[in-house]
Amino acid sequence: MANAMDRARLVLLNAALGPLDYRVPAGMAVEPGSIVVAPLGPRQLAGVVWEPERLPAEAIGDNRLRPLLHAFDLPPLGAPLRRLIEWTADYYLAPLGAVLRMALPSSSALDGARTVVEYRATGRAPGRMTPQRAQALERIGARQGLVRELAIVGGVSDGVIRGLVKAGAIEPVEVTIDDPFPVPDPDADPPALEPAQAAAAAELRAAVDAGGFAPYLLDGVTGSGKTEVYFEAVAGALRRDRQTLVLLPEIALTEPFLKRFAARFGAEPVAWHSGLRQSQRRRAWRAIATGEARVVVGARSALFLPYRRLGLIVVDEAHEPSFKQEEGVPYHARDVAVMRARFEAIPVVLASATPAIETRHMVEAGTYKELRLPDRYGGARLPDMAALDLIADPPPRGRWLAPALVAELEANLAAGEQSLLFLNRRGYAPLTLCRHCGYRFQCPNCTAWMVEHRFTRRLACHHCGHVMPAPRACPECKEEDSLVACGPGVERIADEVHALLPEARTAIVTSDTIWSPAKAAEFVARMEAKEIDVVVGTQLVTKGYHFPDLTLVGVVDADLGLAGGDLRAAERTFQQISQVSGRAGRGDKPGRVYVQSHDPSAPVMRALVAGDADGFYAAETAARRAAAMPPFGRLAAIVVSSEDQAEAAAAAGMIGRAAPEHPNMAVFGPAPAPLAMLRGRHRLRLLVHAARSVPVQDIIRDWLGALQWPRGVRVTVDVDPYSFL
Ligand code: ADP
Ligand code: ZN
Repeated sequence: MANAMDRARLVLLNAALGPLDYRVPAGMAVEPGSIVVAPLGPRQLAGVVWEPERLPAEAIGDNRLRPLLHAFDLPPLGAPLRRLIEWTADYYLAPLGAVLRMALPSSSALDGARTVVEYRATGRAPGRMTPQRAQALERIGARQGLVRELAIVGGVSDGVIRGLVKAGAIEPVEVTIDDPFPVPDPDADPPALEPAQAAAAAELRAAVDAGGFAPYLLDGVTGSGKTEVYFEAVAGALRRDRQTLVLLPEIALTEPFLKRFAARFGAEPVAWHSGLRQSQRRRAWRAIATGEARVVVGARSALFLPYRRLGLIVVDEAHEPSFKQEEGVPYHARDVAVMRARFEAIPVVLASATPAIETRHMVEAGTYKELRLPDRYGGARLPDMAALDLIADPPPRGRWLAPALVAELEANLAAGEQSLLFLNRRGYAPLTLCRHCGYRFQCPNCTAWMVEHRFTRRLACHHCGHVMPAPRACPECKEEDSLVACGPGVERIADEVHALLPEARTAIVTSDTIWSPAKAAEFVARMEAKEIDVVVGTQLVTKGYHFPDLTLVGVVDADLGLAGGDLRAAERTFQQISQVSGRAGRGDKPGRVYVQSHDPSAPVMRALVAGDADGFYAAETAARRAAAMPPFGRLAAIVVSSEDQAEAAAAAGMIGRAAPEHPNMAVFGPAPAPLAMLRGRHRLRLLVHAARSVPVQDIIRDWLGALQWPRGVRVTVDVDPYSFL
C-alpha cells in the first residue's frame, strides 16, 4: 500500500495547526501512521501521516505541495492508536496535535542513533572551585545524564556543567540505547492461588486468550491479592507474546512494583514515568514501538505510547484521582484506558478496593464485568476501625493527636510494631498569621495561603510553587516573633510524635521527601528493616505499600477532605481512609485504625467504622442520581483566565451571554473560581450541567468556536472535571 501514496495528510506536532497536506517525494514510502518530518515555513516539524478521509483539510493543488523531508525508520502508529488520538481530541475538545504529542517522544528520540553521550562526575576536583561548582557536584553525586539534566539536578546553568567538563571534574560517557530489555518469564515463580483468586485469574486469562474488548472491575479489599490475580493475566499475555500496560497512579509506587514484578516474573518490566533520563526514555519508547518491551509499567503518560502488540491493560488503584490529568490536555486516564482497550480490541482490568462510583455504575449497567475477591489473602483480617471524637475527647491545646490515639501509639511502639499517621497536608502548618496585627501570609500569585515548611525554612504556595524564606517579623506591623503557625501539616505531627515519644524513629512521607522512585525504594527498605517506628504521611502512603509489621493507623483529620463541597468529597474521604486503613495488619498481626473526627456521626464516618462499603456506595449513588450528577449526568467546566482581571471578567461575561439554550442543559456562571487567582491569572468559571443524552462537546465546540477573545485571555474546557477549584 505504501507505494500508492504520493500525497500525505499530516497531523503535526503543533497544537495550533490543523491537518496539512504534503507531497511524498520519490523514493520515500509512507503509510497512515508513518512518523515523518515536514517543512513548515523555515522550520521543520515532526508529524504523523493520517488517513485523509478522516481529517478534512484545506484543498491544495498538487503543484503547490511541499515535499516531506524525512520518514523515520520506525513502525507506524497503529490504527487503534490513531483512533484513540482522534477520540481523545474529540471528547476532551483538545487539538489533535496536542494529543499526538503524548504518543511521540521528543524528536531527538526518533532518529536511529544507537548511542547517546551522557555525563557523570569523575571524582576529580576542578582546578578552580566556585560555590556554584561545589553545589552542582554535590547535588549530582553519582548521577548521570545529559548536560541539561545534570544542570537541573545541580541547580545551575548548563554553562557551569560545561565548565566542569572542561575542568575534568565531569566526563562524557557513551551510553548504548538499544540494549534489549530482559524478557519476563510467565512461569518464573507463580503463586498458588486461593479459590476466589484462581477463579478471577482464570477468567482474565481466558479473556486475554480470546482477545476482544472486555472491561473488568477487579474488586477486592486491600490485601486480597488483586495484584497476584492480574499478574496471571499478564502471564497469559506474555505467553501469547502480547504486550501489557500496567498504569499506576504515582511514580513513587513504580519502584516497589518493579521489585515485586521481578520476583514473580524473573525480570523487571519497562518503566515509563517523568523521572526517566532522556536516554532511558528513548530506549523505552523504541522498545515499546517495536514490541520488544513486553510489560510496561507507568504513570498515565504511558497510555498514549505506540505499543506494537498490546494485549492487555491494567489500571491499578483505578479509583485514584491522580489518573485525572489537569494540565495540558485534561483527560482521565481510567476512561481513556478503557477506550484504548476498545480500539485495540483487548481486555482492560480496573483494579481497586474502593472503585469509583462511575466504575461501579458501569458494572451495574452491565458494561463492565465485576470479579470480586472478598477476603484478605492468607486469613489476614481487615483492621478494626474506631472513630475518635475530637470534641468529646480533644487533644490538649496546640496538639493534634487525641489522648486515646497517643496511648495506642505508645503501646504499639512498646510492642515493637510500626504505626502510620495519615494527614493529607504537606509542610508544617497550612497558615501563618501575625498574632499582633492579624496579617496572614498569602501567595502573591494565587488565592491561597503560604504553607510553612519548617525543614526547608520556607513558606511555599502549593499551587504555583512560589516560595519565600520563613520570615522573623511581620511584614505588616514589623513586630518580631509575633508569627504563629495555624493548624497542622505532617511536619508538625512528626514534631508532636517526637515530643510525646522521644525514642520513636519517625519518617515523613510526602511528595517533598519522596520525590523520586529511588527515594521511595529507600523508604520501603527502611520500613522493611524496621528502622522506622512511626510514619507520618500524606495520600502518598495510602496506596500500594505492604508492610507486615504496620499494625496501627491513625487518621489525624478525617473531616479535612469533606470541606469545600466538592461533588466527590464524601467518596474520596471514604476511599482515602479505606485505603490508608488497608495498610494496617496486612501480615499475621491484626491491625487497628483510629479515625479522628469532629463529627463521627456523619454518614461517611459511620459507614467507615461499620465497614459498610455497600451501604455507603448505595447512599452516595442515590444522591448522585437524584441530583443528575456524574455518572448520571454530565459536567464540563469552562475556565476563563487572564492576568488582567477586567479582561477575564469581560471575556467570561461574553461567553456566558452567548451560552446556547438546550433542553436538559444548564449553564451556571460565570462566577469567580474558588481559586480566583492562580499563578498570577484571574480566573472565572462556567459550569455546564447536562443530561447524559446531550452532546455536550459538540455544543461547546460550536459555542466557543463562534466567539473571539483578546490574546491575553485563556479559555480552557475541562470535560468531566474532577477539580472544582
Ligand atoms: P492487593 O493488590 O489486593 O492489595 P496483593 O496482591 O498486594 O493484594 O496481596 C497482598 C499480599 O498477599 C501480598 O504480599 C501478596 O504477595 C500476598 N498474596 C496474595 N495472594 C497470594 C497467594 N495466592 N500466594 C502467596 N501470596 C499471596
Ligand atoms: Zn501561588
